Order: sequence, then structure tokens, then C-alpha cells
Amino acid sequence: MWHARQMTVKSTDPWQTPAVEVLRAHPGIRVAEIETNATPGFTGDKATGERLIEERGAVLSRLQEMLFANGRWGDRRSILLILQGMDTAGKGGMVRNVIGHVDPQGVDHTSFGVPTPEEKRHHYLWRINKALPRAGQLGVFDRSHYEDVLVVRVRNLVPESVWSTRYDEINQFERELVDSGTTLIKVAMFVSLDEQKRRLAERLERPDKHWKYNPGDVSERKLWPAYQEAYQAMLDRTSTEHAPWYVVPCDRKWYSRIAVMELLIDAFERLDLDWPSVEFDVELEKRRLAEA
Ligand code: ADP
Repeated sequence: MWHARQMTVKSTDPWQTPAVEVLRAHPGIRVAEIETNATPGFTGDKATGERLIEERGAVLSRLQEMLFANGRWGDRRSILLILQGMDTAGKGGMVRNVIGHVDPQGVDHTSFGVPTPEEKRHHYLWRINKALPRAGQLGVFDRSHYEDVLVVRVRNLVPESVWSTRYDEINQFERELVDSGTTLIKVAMFVSLDEQKRRLAERLERPDKHWKYNPGDVSERKLWPAYQEAYQAMLDRTSTEHAPWYVVPCDRKWYSRIAVMELLIDAFERLDLDWPSVEFDVELEKRRLAEA
């Protein structure tokens, strides 16, 4: 029997410690002390990382196809990648360069911006519930319900008495999701303020990047200490056994991409997938086809 796990042993060599171990938010982690330009667990250089992303992309693609196939044959499970990070952390590039390796028909991708008037009339988890991945799908959230304890907390968009109850509510919500067969991979992406400045400057320099520039992003920089505090609370209060956070340094884009690729592959492998067994008689169908 062909087995996914066999494909993975050799190509993870540059990982001294697997991404899933080294990046998991451990109790006591300090957001202010995250080394955003580090490459935890990875011994290779940029060229190795870029080569590996192609190789591992093929593995991811195969696993995703298997999940999709199983979804077609009654398996209710799904995977949801949640990307949270400040502007310029590289969420869009992550989707293009990592998720870009898999068949788009198997991906349920959603970006969450400022809530629309309709969304504002509902509970903050309403729009999240609507976007959850279907059976057999790989869901990708570019921002998520965590905005409701990040920007909402920092900018006082609701009173503290409201946002402070959301951590427990989110844990409960995620518990139910996991119990219903969705594996969550929560990725907190961190860039340094210097790197963020460099990336924003590049957006201003290049006409092909002007569209990504949002004057509001500059004002957000002044709020960085408050954001750090909010990210700290998020990691402290919502990194759970059933849905842990992974903290990914993002100053080096190639590293963050190969790291998230490995987190995804690990999640797929833990599903212990195989090709679905079908309900028709294959030999009989071969004979019927020959005669058709
Ligand atoms: P991006 O900046 O990621 O390209 P958008 O400009 O469409 O995407 O929207 C992102 C903005 O929406 C961010 O400034 C983010 O803080 C804000 N946002 C997302 N969710 C919420 C929320 N629940 N309440 C208020 N603002 C939110």
C-alpha cells in the first residue's frame, strides 16, 4: 500500500528540529523577544529553502489531492490554515507560494477585512462560520476571528468587557471545530518594525506595488507596542492543546514559506490518509469498459 509518510523522510534533512516542534508557541513565549530574522530549526540557506519549497510543494499537492478524494467519498475531515500577522508580514505571498502548489479546486480561501455593514450586524464569528472549509477542503484564512481580539482591542472598537470574553469563546469555538473534524494550523507571522518599514518603502518606490500601499498602515506602526500586547494575550490565552499557535519569524520570506509548508504537510500526515476505497468492483468495471 502506498503511504504518504514514506515520501517525506529524506527531503526534510535541512530541518534539524521539525518546524512543528520548534515553532510551537510554548508557555512563557515573549512576543517582544521574537527574533524575526531567525530561521529556527532550519540549517539550510535561502537557495536550499527555495529548492525545497518546490520539492515539498509536490508532496503537499499529493496529500491535498488525497484529502480531496476522501472528501468525495464521505470523509468529513478538513484542514484550516489561519494566517495572522501585521501588514507586510507576507500573508499574501504565503498563499501564492505555499498554497499555490495545490489544486485550487481543493482550497477554500477567505480574506477578512474591515467587517461589512451586514457583518457588523452579526456576532463576530458569523462570517467565520460561513467561511469554514467544507469536507475534504484545505481552508485558508488571511486574517481571521483573531482580528476581534487584535485590531478591535488595540483600537477600542468594542469595550474591554466585550473583547475580554472572546478568548474563552474562541477556544470553545475552536474546540468544537476540531471535534467536528477540522485540523487547525494557526500561524502567527512576525516581522520587525525595520523590515516592515523597508517593505512599505518598497511599495511606495514601485508602481507595481502602489496598490498594496495603504496610508493607514503607517499609523498602525505607532500602535506597535499595543499590538505586541494584544498578540501576547492572544498567544497566552488561545494557544491550546487542540489548536496551538505556531510563531513564524517572517523577515526572511523564504524561511517563513518553507516553515508553513512543513506545518501543513505535518497536519496532512497526521490525518494518515490513503486513497479512498471505492464502492464499485474495479475488475468488473475493467471488463465492462473493454466491452463497451
Ligand atoms: P490587507 O490589508 O490584509 O490587504 P484589507 O485592507 O482588505 O486587507 O483589510 C485588512 C484590514 O481590515 C486590516 O487593517 C484589519 O485590521 C482590518 N480588519 C479585519 N478584521 C477586522 C475586524 N473584525 N474589525 C475591524 N477591523 C478589521
